Amino acid sequence: MKEDELYKFFSISGVDNEFIKYAVNFYKRRGKGHAVDFYRGEKKNFRRIHISYEVLRGYVKALDDVSAVNKIIEIWERYPFIDRRIRGDFHTHTEFSDSMDDTEAIIRKASALGYSWIALTDHAFNPGNPSYTMSAEKYLRRTEIAEKIAGETGIKVYHSIEANIMEDGTLDIPDIIREKIPFALASLHKLYNHPDETLLKRIDKAMADEKVLAFTHPFFALDIRKYGSCIGEIIDIVEGHGRAVELNMFPFYFRGNELIADEIKDRDVKVSFSTDEHCVNGMNRMRFADYFIEKLNPLNILNFSESPVEDFFKKQKNILKLIG
Ligand SMILES: [Zn+2]
Ligand SMILES: [Zn+2]
Repeated sequence: MKEDELYKFFSISGVDNEFIKYAVNFYKRRGKGHAVDFYRGEKKNFRRIHISYEVLRGYVKALDDVSAVNKIIEIWERYPFIDRRIRGDFHTHTEFSDSMDDTEAIIRKASALGYSWIALTDHAFNPGNPSYTMSAEKYLRRTEIAEKIAGETGIKVYHSIEANIMEDGTLDIPDIIREKIPFALASLHKLYNHPDETLLKRIDKAMADEKVLAFTHPFFALDIRKYGSCIGEIIDIVEGHGRAVELNMFPFYFRGNELIADEIKDRDVKVSFSTDEHCVNGMNRMRFADYFIEKLNPLNILNFSESPVEDFFKKQKNILKLIG
């Protein structure tokens, strides 16, 4: 792949030039670090940013698939605007975990995009760098800042968290945070050395957690080449518990999103669209949602609601009543 194509790919991912430069060099070197730090100048202060090897590897993997990259660029040009029916973003990061931009900037960006709401979902725990772990103290601080900006912009903020699905299928949400959050995202960021046959059980246990709104980026830890064929079973689990599946607009999830969209297009499964931004510009990539929205039943798209979390859990209670 040519270098200018690489730059284009990274820039439409919404990542900033520092990252692009870094990632292109990384791609050229094909080095295998475990995690890297790089610096981004912000006003007069330099802030240290930690990007895990997995994130970079995700980009590199996507770049190996030239036809996907070409399609991503083509879609980016085909849909210059975010669908107006999208009222908010379910998955965003702030300075309280690993975003390059802060809570205020993220909420102001949501306002500039014309959204009614936004969910802040910092990592419950970041195994790559524990200092990004969401403590109760940080959660309260973030809530305080967010509510102030929410008041100024008129945006509703869901003060949430992106939890990790642990080896035993539980979620790593501290009790003190659990009682405060309106919902949690459940992510498999690590497989540990999990045998294939118990992997689905682990996802099943996580989806049974009453706080879960969505199974987030299913193909982050799950290699699509190895687990792509399990998509039917994965969606059965998500649907069985009445949860949503996330379509994550990071470009390197493109193939995974296609698989998911194909699987759910004729099923009654809720979908949460998100950008999973790690910098303000990343929120622009909600444009990719337009491509998938065309394939899906609009009634299943949670982002079209003005109060999606309230709607979702109201329906959840009805489902539980029916099962119970
Ligand atoms: Zn994640
Ligand atoms: Zn995330």
